[in-house]
Amino acid sequence: MGPGPSDVHPRVLRAMATPLVGYLDPSFVEIMTDVQELLRYVFRTDNEYTLAVSGTGSAAMEAAFANLVEPGETVLVPSNGYFGGRMGEMAARVGGEVVTADAPWGEPLDPATIEAAFDEHQPTVVGVVHGETSTGVRQPEIDEIARIVHEYDAYLVVDTVASLGGVEFRTDEWGADLVYSGSQKCLSAPPGASPLTLSDRAMEKVRNRETQPRSWYLDLEGLWTYWGDDPQYHHTGMTSTVYALREALRLVAEEGIQARWERHRRLAGALKAGVEAMGLELLPADEHWLPSLNAVRIPAAADGDALTSRLLEDDGIEIAAGLGDLAGEVVRVGCMGHSARPANVLPTVGALGRALD
Ligand code: PLP
Repeated sequence: MGPGPSDVHPRVLRAMATPLVGYLDPSFVEIMTDVQELLRYVFRTDNEYTLAVSGTGSAAMEAAFANLVEPGETVLVPSNGYFGGRMGEMAARVGGEVVTADAPWGEPLDPATIEAAFDEHQPTVVGVVHGETSTGVRQPEIDEIARIVHEYDAYLVVDTVASLGGVEFRTDEWGADLVYSGSQKCLSAPPGASPLTLSDRAMEKVRNRETQPRSWYLDLEGLWTYWGDDPQYHHTGMTSTVYALREALRLVAEEGIQARWERHRRLAGALKAGVEAMGLELLPADEHWLPSLNAVRIPAAADGDALTSRLLEDDGIEIAAGLGDLAGEVVRVGCMGHSARPANVLPTVGALGRALD
């Protein structure tokens, strides 16, 4: 019940034990095609350029900024959470001029702030975090943010590492240009194969770069030589991780994406109701609550690290302490993918109650 990796379904564990074949073996290429089709379903997109980046969510984040940002371009990133900060660090390392769209930790960005940032800084790339794991805030109005970004002919990158497959997200309908995620949270696959999708328009920006991306490994044109129609060697495919990701995505499709969003809301809703009944509060306002990650404010006298250790030692339940600016103020309780079940949620509420007693 931490912020990920979440529990993995036994079918996914079994898929990981499938014997290995070459990464260009026709049977493996078929599995990659399945993964791409299933990722389009989960991302709610028809984007051709849909793949799994080798590496964890940060690799997909780095692929986004290393490819979309050219040295000297202005990049707008959020200041209201830890992972927005990481976007800024990555954008700076690839030569971007980083400016921030500001909101306090615990609150989402207001689209008006993004509009004002265009007046002041004229960014070409804007990053937002749909589910901020450090604060438990769900960024609403992605569609409105995309509308503003496109009005200025810029590109919107959205981080869905903590939300994809658990919280409603609609790439095409909302107009995001590049969306990435991780495999180990609401998708409940092992870490290491990170979903990424980008529109034709975004890929055109990548193809028309004046300078080569600074990362060879994460160069999207290079990655597409392997994930495109006529797969060629770029780097060795992560065979077992892809087997597992396909099985995890099949489980999402069998459940149905809407039913899965609904399950996350229902079970995280039970968690939220339970902690609130004990007199505790979640950090964000109800309308910005992120069901997959519940940031619970702890009493001033409580010690977040001691609390998380107690849950682990006494009850075998993993939760996480606060991160960054919120260290010592919250504990973070995940409700993600295969972990989001009554058998997990209700004992977690009980264990938290006992630990605080
Ligand atoms: N973005 C968000 C919102 C995250 O929660 C995380 C990880 O927790 C990342 C990015 C980075 O992903 P990873 O740790 O898998 O590299």
